[in-house]
Amino acid sequence: MFDVQKIRQDFPILDREVNGKPLVYFDNAATSQTPQIVIDAIVDYYSNYNANIHRGVHTLSQEATDAYEIARKKVKEHFNAKHSYEIILTSGTTHSINIVATGFSNLLKEGDEIIVSALEHHSNIVPWQMLCERTGAVLKVIPMNEEGELLMDAYDQLLSERTKLVFTNHISNALGTINPIEEIIEKAHKVGAAVLIDGAQSCPHIKPDVQKLNVDFYVASAHKLCGPTGVGLLYGKEEWLNKLPPYQGGGEMIDQVTFEKTTYAGLPHKFEAGTPNICGGIAFGVALDYMNSIGFEAIAQYEKELLDYGTTKLLEIEGLKIYGTSKHKTSVISFNVGDIHPYDIGSIVDKLGVAVRTGHHCAQPIMDFYKIPGTIRASFSFYNTKEEIDILVEAVKKAKMMLS
Ligand code: PMP
Repeated sequence: MFDVQKIRQDFPILDREVNGKPLVYFDNAATSQTPQIVIDAIVDYYSNYNANIHRGVHTLSQEATDAYEIARKKVKEHFNAKHSYEIILTSGTTHSINIVATGFSNLLKEGDEIIVSALEHHSNIVPWQMLCERTGAVLKVIPMNEEGELLMDAYDQLLSERTKLVFTNHISNALGTINPIEEIIEKAHKVGAAVLIDGAQSCPHIKPDVQKLNVDFYVASAHKLCGPTGVGLLYGKEEWLNKLPPYQGGGEMIDQVTFEKTTYAGLPHKFEAGTPNICGGIAFGVALDYMNSIGFEAIAQYEKELLDYGTTKLLEIEGLKIYGTSKHKTSVISFNVGDIHPYDIGSIVDKLGVAVRTGHHCAQPIMDFYKIPGTIRASFSFYNTKEEIDILVEAVKKAKMMLS
């Protein structure tokens, strides 16, 4: 039984006030809030077994190593990877994408093609542009329509034997559109291209199965999943991870080092140079346990209710336009009110305790498509309520009145 009031008690931050008003936190697509159980795991680590991992024979180091490796196993199970060593713990989505983009430098040649989607976050555009600069490969873009959906016929046209890589997010952070990744992956594989799916926005809402998806790389960040910042994952099929060179050199990622030659460690350590975010990794595992204890089906169902309610209520405001109107979308509402600058609305609703994101959401090409400087984005999580949406709607109405 989904009991939102009970769930809210797990999040101490939801009790605080902002500018003298109860906090209404609708910036979940930027980062999620942290339940007490995850905070406790962080405190427990630093209070009881803070030590460097994989290198000490002493008890603390072994306890920390065990906890870190248990967390990796939890991540493996959550994403249904075949092997734990296919899970590289990184500092987050951006780091994970850069490992792959840099790793392909020697695998591409001039004239090869890389396909990205029009709906990407900058972190899924810029690393590929840099890869193209290094290799002479060409970046192609799957266009989008007014509803914020990818044009799959155009994707078919872009695919050819020159296509070596395809990258798209599962869910757009700016609009909330859920992209047809199964079809994208299947079609890319038909021409022999590898696929990376950016799951930063989907993981909080949908439990992915990387084996069923048959995806080559899948990346996400813990901080969107009720975990801490500075940790995330790169899943890669074993064969691909073996093909890619290490991203960074340093401790932990080696087998033997001499001044003449260094040999590298096997997976996953080859990609984990230096001391990782040990505490973050452990807390990531706890966050996944927490999300699974609520259940992703219940989360999706409840968030859909919030999305439908929020969409109906916001559209009652005259002059309000929602960007991203696909039927396939998650609980993100990106909107503007008349020609009022989104920043002005965002600042006023903050004074009323409501946290929304304003701007281009690291997705400038989408804003260019709509010919707008940005939007106001309200993104709902499973701990939000319809009453909070009412507060947002009243706050936007007030802001509109003050600014018109
Ligand atoms: N891709 C998408 C779709 C995102 O929403 C984000 C975070 N806003 C990122 C990538 C980057 O994630 P991070 O900042 O955690 O590396």
